[in-house]
Amino acid sequence: MKVAVFSCKPYDQRTLSKAVAETPSIELSYFESRLSSETMTLTNGFDAVSCFVNDNIDRHVIQYLADHGITAIALRCAGFNNVDLSAAKAANIKVYHVPDYSPTSVAEHAVALIMTLNRKTHRAYHRVKEGNFALEGLLGFNVQSRTVGCIGTGRIGQAFCRIMRGFGCRVLCYDISPNNDLVDIGCEYTDLETLYSDSDILSLHCPLNASTHHLINKNSLSKMKDGVMIINTSRGALVNAQEAIDALYTGKIGYLGLDVYEQENSIFFEDMSSHIIQDSVFQLMLTFPNVVVTGHQGYFTQEALDHIATTTLDNLIAHAEEKPCLRLLNP
Ligand code: NAD
Repeated sequence: MKVAVFSCKPYDQRTLSKAVAETPSIELSYFESRLSSETMTLTNGFDAVSCFVNDNIDRHVIQYLADHGITAIALRCAGFNNVDLSAAKAANIKVYHVPDYSPTSVAEHAVALIMTLNRKTHRAYHRVKEGNFALEGLLGFNVQSRTVGCIGTGRIGQAFCRIMRGFGCRVLCYDISPNNDLVDIGCEYTDLETLYSDSDILSLHCPLNASTHHLINKNSLSKMKDGVMIINTSRGALVNAQEAIDALYTGKIGYLGLDVYEQENSIFFEDMSSHIIQDSVFQLMLTFPNVVVTGHQGYFTQEALDHIATTTLDNLIAHAEEKPCLRLLNP
């Protein structure tokens, strides 16, 4: 089976090449560009495509793929909001995904953001490089005994709560379907109001949907402690960025750690250092000393990349051999 791999960065290619070496029935060709209506002609002559979070696989692209003999789309991510699944089903194209590529990676990244913001290592790094060893402005706090709120206790949220219990925190959880394993290790499920009012640190691990869109907004922020730390490694649109900026000005938000941003599609995963980013909200966000933004790298560990590569190949093999696969999204 010949597979065109889109949105393929050098680090993806390295891991996929290693994994495919043991699978001679599959031949991968790597394209750094995203799959979209502009690039779809690159799929000519292939049997399947593999894509990532920012490829735009709409009805038009699906029709082109179907007309040119493509029978499978192997996503290398969990989310599938960028694929028209019903169009794919109608066109008899099977769509596979990688549902859980290392929850630990994202949970640990959320903790990295907490510790960076708290102990200000992002600022200390630059000071020390310039021979400035003054401590003024670098004062942190002990995380032990603080109250940490976790919204969404699925795979990633659960891993996050376990780490924070290890720090000695009181951990408050909110989820539409609570997980008793977390109660067994001393986490407390509560309503959102209590989680907002009691948390010193609040970390988001729920999916983006109609009920969570802009969950962090001026109304929810007004119920939180002054100087609260907000961490979002989940989906950008969980936070109303403009209202978060307003809360940074008043001090309601004392620390903001973001690995995701609502308008990230046109910015993240690319080197934008020679471009003027056309997003004044994002640009403003970057100017605050108590905001740390990372470019959707929560998942980015070698373990996660290995898991993505082997699962993607397993999905393609299952497709080629017409075997049932639990990671098929449109059976
Ligand atoms: P999951 O499906 O295992 O868990 C999500 C949890 O959220 C579930 O327990 C669900 O019941 C709960 N939930 C759903 N609606 C809710 C609501 N309205 N309020 C509270 N809880 C709600 O998902 P996961 O694998 O833990 O992923 C969580 C998020 O992390 C996803 O949104 C995903 O997009 C994001 N993610 C980010 C990265 C990254 O690199 N930053 C990587 C992978 C996933």
